[in-house]
Amino acid sequence: MGLCFGVRDAIRLAHERAAAGPVTILGDLVHNETVLADLRARGALIRHDPADVPTRDVLITAHGASDRRIASLRTSGLNVIEATCPLVHRAHQALRRLVDGGFHPVVVGQAAHVEVRGLTEDHPGCEVVLSEEEVDRLPERPRYGVVSQTTQPVARVRELVDRLARRFPASEVRWIDTVCQPTKDRQNAAEALAGRCDVVLVLGGAHSNNTRRLVDTCRSRCARVHWLQSAADLDPSWVRATDIVGITAGTSTPDSVIDAVEAALRALAEPAEPARAEAA
Ligand code: SF4
Repeated sequence: MGLCFGVRDAIRLAHERAAAGPVTILGDLVHNETVLADLRARGALIRHDPADVPTRDVLITAHGASDRRIASLRTSGLNVIEATCPLVHRAHQALRRLVDGGFHPVVVGQAAHVEVRGLTEDHPGCEVVLSEEEVDRLPERPRYGVVSQTTQPVARVRELVDRLARRFPASEVRWIDTVCQPTKDRQNAAEALAGRCDVVLVLGGAHSNNTRRLVDTCRSRCARVHWLQSAADLDPSWVRATDIVGITAGTSTPDSVIDAVEAALRALAEPAEPARAEAA
C-alpha cells in the first residue's frame, strides 16, 4: 500500500515545475516531512498564505482548492497550476450537484483540513461534521446533501449519514460516497493485516489524516500498533523474536520510507552472529 496515484502524480508535477523554474506550493503538497524536505531541496518554495507567494507560478496541492480561492489567485496575477487529485475534483462535483439540486450541503470531515476547506468555501452555510454530537446539533431542513473528505473511513461516514436520516425522518437525506478507492483499499488491507499480526507498524506523517485513520483501524484489530514517520522512529523493544509484524502506510508515505522500515525490521530479525571461539 502506501503512496496513492493522486499523491504520486502531484509529486511528479511538483518536481517537473521545480525543475522548470521558480514555483511556490500553496500549503504542504502532502502531509509527509520526507517529501516536503525533498521538494525544498529541489528549489520549490512552500507557503501557506496566498498573500505571501513570491513567484508567478503557484501550485495547488493534491488536496485541491475552492473555485473562489483559485479565481482570487488568478486575479492577483498568478499562474495557477493544479495538482488536485481527480478524486478530490469528483468530490467537489458531487457537492455542487447536490447544492444545485436544492440540498443543503454537509461535509463529513475535519473542518480545519485543507481539503475540507476547499470543498466548503464555495458553499456558504455548508455544515461540517465529524461526530454524533455535531450531527445532533444540525437544525431540521427539508433536504440535506452529504459528501465526505476523501480519506474518511466509509463505514464511519455511513454511520453519521444514517444518524442524520434517523434524526429527521421527514427530511430527504442524500449521500454521495466520495471516499476514494485508494483509501478504501488501504483501510480494508490494514484491517486484514492487523487481524493476523502481533504488532503493526503504520507509516505516515504526523498530520496525515488517512494515516491516523489507518492507525485507528489497526487498533480495532490488534493491541500493539505503532505510528512511525520514518525508520528513525523504530524502537526495537516493540518487537519480540517470535512476533509476526505487519507494515502498512498512509497514501502520502513514499516507498523509500517503507523500504527503510522494512530493512530495519529485517535486520532486527537476523539471528545474531555466533561469537567466534578464540584461537588456542
Ligand atoms: S488519498 Fe485519495 S483523494 Fe487523496 S490524493 Fe490519494 S487518491 Fe486522491
